[in-house]
Amino acid sequence: MPRLLALLLTLGVLAAAEPRPLIIAHRGASGYLPEHTLAAKALAYGQGADYLEQDVVLSKDGVPVIFHDPHIDTTTDVAKRFPGRQRADGRYYALDFTVAELKQLNASERFNPKTGKAIFPRRFPVGVGSFQIVTLEEEIQFIQNLNRSTGRAVGIYPELKAPAWHRKEGRDLAAAVLPILRKYGYDTKDSACYVQCFEYAEIKRLRGELGWQGKLIMLLGGKGKGPGETDFTYLQTDAGLAELAQLVDGIGPPISSYVTGKTPAERRVTDLAARARKVGLKSHPYTLRADELPKSVRDVDELMRVLFDEAKVDGLFTDFPDLCVRHLKR
Ligand code: CA
Repeated sequence: MPRLLALLLTLGVLAAAEPRPLIIAHRGASGYLPEHTLAAKALAYGQGADYLEQDVVLSKDGVPVIFHDPHIDTTTDVAKRFPGRQRADGRYYALDFTVAELKQLNASERFNPKTGKAIFPRRFPVGVGSFQIVTLEEEIQFIQNLNRSTGRAVGIYPELKAPAWHRKEGRDLAAAVLPILRKYGYDTKDSACYVQCFEYAEIKRLRGELGWQGKLIMLLGGKGKGPGETDFTYLQTDAGLAELAQLVDGIGPPISSYVTGKTPAERRVTDLAARARKVGLKSHPYTLRADELPKSVRDVDELMRVLFDEAKVDGLFTDFPDLCVRHLKR
């Protein structure tokens, strides 16, 4: 075996076949530990996730860092650590802090910055523990080294967050992220990497101007217009899906695009996954939360049964990877 190929296999950079729906750890095992910390990623890894998700924004010094939002006051103690560094809207932004400054923050379970109250009250307590924020490159090294030490091949699933907003700020998020993905071997269709984005203009730019050859997922809101020339309603029509199939490998809509109904009796499985499959697109809906279930199901296993067996989705974003692994093992 050529040495480079052997090394890529060792690090789990090449994707394994996908014989069953993929378990995508949403921000890590974020149902149990503060989102996007290496602790949450390690737990998700240990629970058997196939892919670990990274949401990526830029720091002041242009480094891709892992945060769910451009603003960072809902998941860190930035307001206490750097008082006065907020913008006119009262929010604190990753883009206004260097990596060295961001590293001084303590990451926390998500909370409402106005009240300090937890968004998910039954999860890990807010402001407790010692958790550092992570750069994209650090997280990739962490996952590849875990792949080396365990012999598994867990992939990455980076999301380009708010590229249009970054551009308005004079920054190019994708131009900073892609060289890192290329450096670590994630830039082909065989790589264990899905790049995801909510902005259609950026998806087109990735395939066009930026020459990205790796796997791509178009994230979709439920309905209506999104940022960056995105028309979620149109993109879920047959014509929209056919157009998307020229560019991406799959779609990532909310679970409510696949399963509707206000009660279990009124539950209906939509034809979205089937229509997407017809044009060769995978379905990776978000987000399975055991503590925030849709009203159309009685429990978390019923939701998975409907998604996996009836809608036949190809993957699932989950805050609780262990529940999904257990369900699929049955
Ligand atoms: Ca995300």
